[in-house]
Amino acid sequence: MSAPNKSYDPVEVTALSPQELERARDEALAAIAAAGTLDDLKQVRLAHAGDRSPLALANREIGALPPAGRAEAGKRIGAARGAVGQALKARQAELEDERDQRVLVEETVDVTLPWDRAPRGARHPLTTTQERMADVFVSMGFEVAEGPEVEAEWFNFDALNFTPDHPARTMQDTFFVGSEETGLVMRTHTSPVQVRSLLSRPLPVYVVMPGKTFRTDELDATHSPVFHQLEGLAVDEGLTMADLRGGIGVFVEGMFGEGLKTRFRPSYFPFTEPSAEVDMQCFVCRGASAEPGGDPCRTCSSEGWIELGGCGMVNPRVLVACGVDPERYSGWAFGLGVERTLMFRHGVEDMHDMVEGDVRFTLPFGMEI
Ligand SMILES: [Zn+2]
Repeated sequence: MSAPNKSYDPVEVTALSPQELERARDEALAAIAAAGTLDDLKQVRLAHAGDRSPLALANREIGALPPAGRAEAGKRIGAARGAVGQALKARQAELEDERDQRVLVEETVDVTLPWDRAPRGARHPLTTTQERMADVFVSMGFEVAEGPEVEAEWFNFDALNFTPDHPARTMQDTFFVGSEETGLVMRTHTSPVQVRSLLSRPLPVYVVMPGKTFRTDELDATHSPVFHQLEGLAVDEGLTMADLRGGIGVFVEGMFGEGLKTRFRPSYFPFTEPSAEVDMQCFVCRGASAEPGGDPCRTCSSEGWIELGGCGMVNPRVLVACGVDPERYSGWAFGLGVERTLMFRHGVEDMHDMVEGDVRFTLPFGMEI
């Protein structure tokens, strides 16, 4: 870089000589071509086109020339600065284009890659178990029916042949909504949906009714104030206890495996007559644990049988309450606990796990549907 000439002798203004200007221009063009990044180019611009660059400094010397020589020198500097300016602009565009291409490649998002930034979640096993249970009955031609969780006492008790003094009707077992005079309860079973189905559907009726039920139990390992039932009802002409046994048998085989036997034990429910408790053969040991010398079985506590739920032929009084002629129609019904089914089917031992909402409990069940 030449220092400004202070002599005012035109002959001495070497910065304005054609050779010197050419050299400064060529240096600038070489530096521009060599700039590999936009940052490099910024430095080159400062050094070769900035206020302190050789060409800018030479420009300042024009005033030192005699008037006759100024135009010629101005032309040469203008041409050199123009060439440098154009080269800068072109290189800038080139480098920006390169950068844009690189960013496109480097920041490409492959939308087909597996997405693992958030846990996938899983449906609650009570929901999937309940749906699986209902599906077996749907495969037999049953429809799924639902009813309200806040229920009128009449649907929950009276229509189902619970006498007014039945112990289940007290606040000891039942959540009343408001005082007992309101006549509204949190349904204690899914059976009121039987009544609603019979009142609202044409006969014959084949429905399964899954849903939440409520009783005043404390939460412990085997009880919960909120639990789920799957209830089934078939009302048609000529149905007998044999149809009930057949239906339950298909359910057990569909849910737990082929060839499993069921057995009925006499029981009592106000809304069925006769009534029975249903047991199914243990699907793990198939009864072998109860044989002499059999290996112990945790699933059935070596009983060989697992308690499934209650069932029976629909009490004619219930049919009458629902406007169905018991002389012409008969029906069967059953109720199964969803929590209980989940417990023995998957070895869940504590009710707390099902209600506490800890995702570590739910996840191993995955997305089973
Ligand atoms: Zn067993």
